[in-house]
Amino acid sequence: MRAPAPPAERAPEWDSIPGLVHGFFGRRGGTSAPPWQGLNLSFKVGDSPQRVSANWEAARDALAPLRLTRMDQVHGVDIVEVGPGQERSDDRIACAGDADGLATRVPGIGLIVMTADCVPILMVAPERRVAFALHAGWRGTLGGIASRAIDHGARSFGIAADQWEIAIGPAIEACCYEVDADIGRKIESRWGKMPGAWERHGDKGQLDLRQVNTRILERSGARPQAIRQVGGCTACNPDRYFSHRASGGKTGRQASIVGFVEAS
Ligand SMILES: [Zn+2]
Repeated sequence: MRAPAPPAERAPEWDSIPGLVHGFFGRRGGTSAPPWQGLNLSFKVGDSPQRVSANWEAARDALAPLRLTRMDQVHGVDIVEVGPGQERSDDRIACAGDADGLATRVPGIGLIVMTADCVPILMVAPERRVAFALHAGWRGTLGGIASRAIDHGARSFGIAADQWEIAIGPAIEACCYEVDADIGRKIESRWGKMPGAWERHGDKGQLDLRQVNTRILERSGARPQAIRQVGGCTACNPDRYFSHRASGGKTGRQASIVGFVEAS
């Protein structure tokens, strides 16, 4: 008997959205051994495929009946739409290729983003039953993947910026994310001043990517009250989440997933 592994975090406000399934998985549960110890859901970090498959089986209990699609994340800003028939008919996970954002209007498809410090962003338009999943490290954040998602929704689906509900999941926060001052300077020169999200000290500074993405989404027209911060700092909580920085680089990945079920 495998033990089901529920998501570590959810946005409770999303429980009232009809047909929506979502979750931010964490590290607890699962069968992987160190350094991937826990519920590692990535096949690409050197962990045993058998263990990752067993972890997915445990996680799937919380996700049925979504058919899952992932992407090969490349720290870019491209968003790929997953259309009907692009998912797999068996229970394996489809791959949409190189991308850092997935979008779908197809009920029954679940979109996956994998992280271990980078920011997972889930976006849903409840009336239209459209879902997006984004991966935003500092490069994708600087490139404006969150803003591109708002633009993509308007262009491809006719969704206005203020129609989105957005959940920003566990990621490394300013407490633990020191970066070169040049990165903060580039983000502020492109997206405007970021008080509280970027604090420079000398050649370095503390960067809060969740807050930067929140500001970018607000400046792109999303309603501030529709943007939820879910979970905590990955590096402060290494027993709860995988953290690339806290682990020294060798660790697993947590999955964040979103989709709408087919109407019954
Ligand atoms: Zn921290």
